[in-house]
Amino acid sequence: MESTRPNEDIKVNCPQCGSPINFPESYRSIRCPYCSKVLLITSPNRVLKFYLNTELNARSIKYITERYCKREGLALPKSMEKLALYYVPFWRFRGLQYWLKVRTDTYEFEDGTRLETEAKVQIDSKHFDINFPASEIPWMRDLSLGIRAQTIELCPDLPVKLRELAEVIKPEIVMDTAREMAYNSLGRLSRNPSACYEELIGEKLTLVYFPLWVSQFLNNSGNFYLLIDGVSEQASSHFEGEFKEVMESDSFEGVGSIKIVPHHCPHCGADLTIDGESLAFLCQNCDRFWYLEGSQLRQVEVTTAKFDGSIDSKYFPFWRFEAIFNGERSILTFQQAKTLFTNKLSLLIDEPTDSIFKFYIPAFGLKNPGACWTLATNLTRSQPDIELSETVPSHRASCTLPEEEAAQLAGVLWYYLIFGCAGHSLRKSFNRDEVPDIHFRPGRLTYFPMKEDGIYLCEQTTGFAIQKKGVI
Ligand SMILES: [Zn+2]
Ligand SMILES: [Zn+2]
Repeated sequence: MESTRPNEDIKVNCPQCGSPINFPESYRSIRCPYCSKVLLITSPNRVLKFYLNTELNARSIKYITERYCKREGLALPKSMEKLALYYVPFWRFRGLQYWLKVRTDTYEFEDGTRLETEAKVQIDSKHFDINFPASEIPWMRDLSLGIRAQTIELCPDLPVKLRELAEVIKPEIVMDTAREMAYNSLGRLSRNPSACYEELIGEKLTLVYFPLWVSQFLNNSGNFYLLIDGVSEQASSHFEGEFKEVMESDSFEGVGSIKIVPHHCPHCGADLTIDGESLAFLCQNCDRFWYLEGSQLRQVEVTTAKFDGSIDSKYFPFWRFEAIFNGERSILTFQQAKTLFTNKLSLLIDEPTDSIFKFYIPAFGLKNPGACWTLATNLTRSQPDIELSETVPSHRASCTLPEEEAAQLAGVLWYYLIFGCAGHSLRKSFNRDEVPDIHFRPGRLTYFPMKEDGIYLCEQTTGFAIQKKGVI
């Protein structure tokens, strides 16, 4: 399924020169176009907050109010009495939803008899993005962050020019409750009767403060106020009387803003390279490799598949995991995997020893969430016998998938492999509870050489491919 990502830009001031900078929300490193400083975008808190920018001011509000009155057949304002800006809080919950479903086809013979084919397990996914008011103020019930055509500017802090005027409304629904509400409403939306397994991947809760202007005016018929969406700049509805003041905010624990810091190697201080959405950076000066986790650059060891072939191969990152399963302390070996996945492992492998079974998840950018499965499954099933070196390839694709999400995807792959080869024993009940529980050891970034071949991008040590159009 195609993802429909809204246009969202982060709007900040450069910490060095103060110039305004806009960049896509998914970016992790940028260069200030004014002073050329290299910058890293970090997240000190798991739950981030943003304020949506609004460009309206007293003059444009007056204009919008007059235009609204004309359109609605109201008497024109005699005087603009009061102008207020409220930042109203919304919880936003997004991520990816994956599910496995069992499909059986029926084959019909000429004489009308039908035969059910063996059940097949399919993997499917879609993005979800829901929001709801984080406050129980009655007039907020009709508001929504909505789907917007224009680019939305997300500010980590309240825009300076609005600080005097804006009143930030305190969220009343706390984080845990919000998360619970989000899971509940997702469950209602997506209840899929044929799904035997569902998982949310990379789900993120964000607190979004939305600008709502209140224009209080007087005309021949009396006192009115108008609510104006500060982003779309449209007046939504008018009410008679005076707008009732709402309580002002105070701080809200556990929620923080992104921080923009100099993009330096934590070891030697050299500038690191700018690489859009990438989470991993090689220091050109001291050769250390860094992975961005929250607000920290953590040094990681990477491995690269040795390959003597064509020099025009580019290296693509994968997260490689070993797994602990069945609630035990024992690590999943190839021999155990063979009994669990029966006919799903490559027949050509015959590992005599108890070598450790590894899961492979593509860590490079994909255009749609479903694009990685064939490659992930093929690599994992075939357990490639590759020689690994500890060098970082110079011609490499960006690593954009966080380790945590990759581990969640490896979990989906585990169920996929188990259900996919369950055959008769599990055919009647594809039941998650019957599958041994699994968790993963810290992942290892591993680079594989890949090369374009027609419409495909082929992994060079195994020959497995992914469609080029699915790769960013
Ligand atoms: Zn700058
Ligand atoms: Zn360095």
